[in-house]
Amino acid sequence: MEVCYQLPVLPLDRPVPQHVLSRRGAISFSSSSALFGCPNPRQLSQRRGAISYDSSDQTALYIRMLANSEIEVSVSARNVRRLLSFQRYLRSSRFFRGITVPNSSNILDDDYNGQAKCMLEKVGNWNFDIFLFDRLTNGNSLVSLTFHLFNLHGLIEHFQLDTMKLRRFLVMVQEDYHSQNPYHNAVHAADVTQAMHCYLKEPKLSKSLTPWDVLLSLIAAATHDLDHPGVNQPFLIKTNHYLATLYKNTSVLENHHWRSAVGLLRESGLFAHMSLENRQLMESQIGDLILATDISQQNEYLSMFRSHLDRGDLCLENANHRHFILQMALKCADICNPCRTWELSKQWSEKVTEEFFHQGDIEKKYHLGVSPLCDRQTETIANIQIGFMTYLVEPLFGEWARFSNTRLSQTMLGHLGLNKASWKGVQREQLGSGDDVDPTFEEMDSDILPQEPRLS
Ligand SMILES: [Zn+2]
Repeated sequence: MEVCYQLPVLPLDRPVPQHVLSRRGAISFSSSSALFGCPNPRQLSQRRGAISYDSSDQTALYIRMLANSEIEVSVSARNVRRLLSFQRYLRSSRFFRGITVPNSSNILDDDYNGQAKCMLEKVGNWNFDIFLFDRLTNGNSLVSLTFHLFNLHGLIEHFQLDTMKLRRFLVMVQEDYHSQNPYHNAVHAADVTQAMHCYLKEPKLSKSLTPWDVLLSLIAAATHDLDHPGVNQPFLIKTNHYLATLYKNTSVLENHHWRSAVGLLRESGLFAHMSLENRQLMESQIGDLILATDISQQNEYLSMFRSHLDRGDLCLENANHRHFILQMALKCADICNPCRTWELSKQWSEKVTEEFFHQGDIEKKYHLGVSPLCDRQTETIANIQIGFMTYLVEPLFGEWARFSNTRLSQTMLGHLGLNKASWKGVQREQLGSGDDVDPTFEEMDSDILPQEPRLS
C-alpha cells in the first residue's frame, strides 16, 4: 500500500521561514493571555502588530517588534530575538531586568529527584502517573521523560547526538508549550510521549522498528501540540486568525505544531551533523506523523487502517507501512486518556473540559457563537466524555487491538469500558437517565459511527 501525503519540504539551506519565526508573534496573539485578555480576539487576529497595549509593557513591545517588520529595531537586538521563542524571550528579558526565576533543578531536593528516577524505571508501565512525575520533576516532565527515552532506546549513541544540544532542544520544546493551557500543555505532550513509548515496545512494532522510526516517533510525540493556543481550529477560522489563512483553514493547528517543531530542530542544531537529505526527510516524516493527529481526519485514517486489517496486507518490513502504523500509534497516544486508569483519566477529562469551556466563555463574551462542546451552561464532562469515547476512542482502539492484540491493548480497552461506565453513572446521577450521548461527535465524524470495537 502506498501511504503518500505530499507535504512541502522546506529547504534547509534557507533561514526558517518568517511565519515560523513570527510564531513568536503568533504565540502572543493566540496565547491565552493575549487572546483571552482585553482586546477583541477578532480584531487581534486581523491586526497583527497593531495591538494597543501600554507601550511600557515589554511583552506588547516585543509583539509589535516581531509582528511588524517595518519597525526599526537594531540589527543585533533583532537577531537575538529571532533566536528566541516568545516564552523564552520573556524569561531572558526577566533575567536581564534582574528578575530571577528560580532554577527548577536547584530547588528539587534529592528525595524528589530520587523518586522521579525511580518512576523512570517503570516508564513503560501503562499506569505511569505523569501528573506525579511532573510534580517530582518540578514541571520538567517532558524534558526528563523524553531525554530518558532517547537514552533508553539508544538514540543518543546511534545518532551520535550531542547531549547538551538534545537537552537544549527539549527545554525549548517544553517552554514553547503554554503552561497556562489547562490541557494542551507540556504535561499532555509528556503523557503522549510516554504512551508512544508503550506502543513502540509492543512486539509487532518493536521487532521491525529501526532507530530512525523510534527517533521520529518520539520527536513527533513530544512536539505534536507545540505552541498550542488553547483554542481549536474553528475558533481560529472564525476569528480570521492569520494561521488559519496561512494554512488555508486545513489542519491549521497541526501544521503550526509541525512548523514550530521544525523551527526548534533547526535552531537547536541537534541534527546539524546529518546530511541535508536526511534532515529534510526527518522534517517531512515528522510532519506526516503530527498531521495525522488532526482529529477531523480520523475517518480517513481509520478507514485505511480497517482496510489493511481486513485484507491482512500490512507488512512491517515495508517502510511505508511502518510509517502508517506509527501514524496510527501517535493518533492512539494522543487520545488515549480514556484508556488510562480512572484516577488519571478523570483528571484529563476535567482539564480538557476546562479548556473547552474557557474557549466557550470567550466566544460568548465576544459574540462569536459558542463552539460545540464549549458551552458550560449546556454541556457536562460526562456527556462530552461518553460522546468522545463512543465515537472516536472506541473505534480507534478497537482497530488498534485488532492490529496488536496484546495484554496492553486489552488493558486499554478494559479501562475504556470501565471509565465509560463510570461517566454513565455520573450522567445518570446528573440527568436521571443513562443513554444521552452527546450528538456532537456524531456530527463531527458520521462515517465511523457507530462502530463497536472488533477484536480478532
Ligand atoms: Zn495532543
